[in-house]
Amino acid sequence: MTTPERMVRIAVDLVNTKSRNPEKLTSPEALGQFLLEHGEPAATVDERDLAQIKVIRERIRPVFHAEPADAARILNELLTEYAVRPYLSDHDGSPWHLHVAKPEPTWAEWLAAGAALGLAGFAAGHGFDAIGACAAADCERVFVNAAERRPRRFCTPTCSSRTRVASYRARSKAAAADSGH
Ligand SMILES: [Zn+2]
Ligand SMILES: [Zn+2]
Repeated sequence: MTTPERMVRIAVDLVNTKSRNPEKLTSPEALGQFLLEHGEPAATVDERDLAQIKVIRERIRPVFHAEPADAARILNELLTEYAVRPYLSDHDGSPWHLHVAKPEPTWAEWLAAGAALGLAGFAAGHGFDAIGACAAADCERVFVNAAERRPRRFCTPTCSSRTRVASYRARSKAAAADSGH
């Protein structure tokens, strides 16, 4: 783990590897690519890592949908299971960085500890309102929202405008029906 911000990003992107869209983590290679894209170039992963990380993914997913007390309980459970007392390391010539998983963790253990700590810190800093799932009818993507004051409802502007257009159409249709057309 380098920074909490990075671990929040990995948590969000991990959950979004499977929403309404087809599964993106279809092979160990796909998982390796995911980790590479999130700053872990040296990851060697196998089928077992893939299966374990999918289990972690489904444990993190409800954090984005649940009421605050339930989301906090889920994060606390993950922290209890996977996070250890943080320690600084500069192993292999890397810059000093924090480790929050036990030494020599599996990729799933590493991800569970980092994602849970990242999301817990984010919730503590911004409130659970800033952690959510897209409100568009056919989208299940999740997001975090640190910047805006207003709670965000959609994963992307695309989902937002799609929903606006759909509800405008529904209203026009209702209006047309009312006026007997
Ligand atoms: Zn390290
Ligand atoms: Zn969406």
